[in-house]
Amino acid sequence: MAERYYYSIASGSSGNCGLYMADGTAILIDLGVSLRKITTALAALGLALGDIAAVLLTHEHIDHVKGLPMFLKKGRAPVFASRGTAEALAEKDPLCADRLNVFDSGERFWVRDVDITPFATPHDAAESVGYILEHGGSRFGFATDLGFVPRDAADCLRGCEAVVLESNHDPHMLQAGPYPYSLKMRVAGPAGHLSNPDCAVFAADLVKNGARTLILAHLSEKNNIPELALQQTRAALRGLPACEVIVAPRERMEQPVIFGEEDASCSLSG
Ligand SMILES: [Zn+2]
Ligand SMILES: [Zn+2]
Repeated sequence: MAERYYYSIASGSSGNCGLYMADGTAILIDLGVSLRKITTALAALGLALGDIAAVLLTHEHIDHVKGLPMFLKKGRAPVFASRGTAEALAEKDPLCADRLNVFDSGERFWVRDVDITPFATPHDAAESVGYILEHGGSRFGFATDLGFVPRDAADCLRGCEAVVLESNHDPHMLQAGPYPYSLKMRVAGPAGHLSNPDCAVFAADLVKNGARTLILAHLSEKNNIPELALQQTRAALRGLPACEVIVAPRERMEQPVIFGEEDASCSLSG
């Protein structure tokens, strides 16, 4: 039986890193915390850095690449980034230029038996992307750091059985919160971050289209409360097929989130 899981190592503005695992193929999405934190989290799952098959970067903001320079020194796995992200990173650190595997927008590629499709996300970065990872007919989607869900991204994410989706802020908390006006405008704007209500609306769309596991991610520390994010999305899912909704904590998850089991047990070989 194919085992697939997602394990959030860090999530939020202080750092983002997650592990996607499908049948022994381990893929890290973003490296926004220290390499030490990453290796400690991997060790808890019985994994080492050498077990990582690839790294996928979403964009060049520091909360997504903090551990990248050290990973490039110590890790051997290929690190994939969009052309714009790679160029932005190479400007700061020329070493990145030689070590990154660059893809063009919309280009699919494979990491072992995982089929990867990047898609554009609206965010104030050079060329930010989200990802679809497909393995054995099971689709997993990853979409954080996006001001809204554009049609193309929505089309990609529909049909995924598990999705990591941004639920960044509560609009009222953001407005009343401590951020300066310009930053409030940035976060709430079309190239900022997805709010709880926008996440909830799109979550319902995803569940109508097959999602059975949702992991709410990149929650703001100052402008959100995990219970509030959960409550908003769960309320939007009432009356729809059952879907597990989990918040990715700031620090690493206690347990990996296993998905796609139903599919596996229904298969002829199961
Ligand atoms: Zn960002
Ligand atoms: Zn971010």
